[in-house]
Amino acid sequence: MSVFHDEVEIEDFEYDEEEETYYYPCPCGDRFEISKEQLMLGEEIATCPSCSLVIKVIYDVEMFVAEQEMSVKIENKSTTALESN
Ligand SMILES: [Zn+2]
Repeated sequence: MSVFHDEVEIEDFEYDEEEETYYYPCPCGDRFEISKEQLMLGEEIATCPSCSLVIKVIYDVEMFVAEQEMSVKIENKSTTALESN
């Protein structure tokens, strides 16, 4: 299996809201990247596009799943509110 260059907590990544991607500086001068979608799917390996290094992302997958469920609940709630009126 892959040998990780490092293990980094998601809190230490920089999040780009437009790209919906997390970035972390790579020693080669480029950046490791992993998208929010990948994280929601349980992916935990961030790769650098300029070199062969990979890092392991330390995060709680439930944090991303919960975020999805929460937005669904909010939608359901507003529908229910309309119906009761
Ligand atoms: Zn690199």
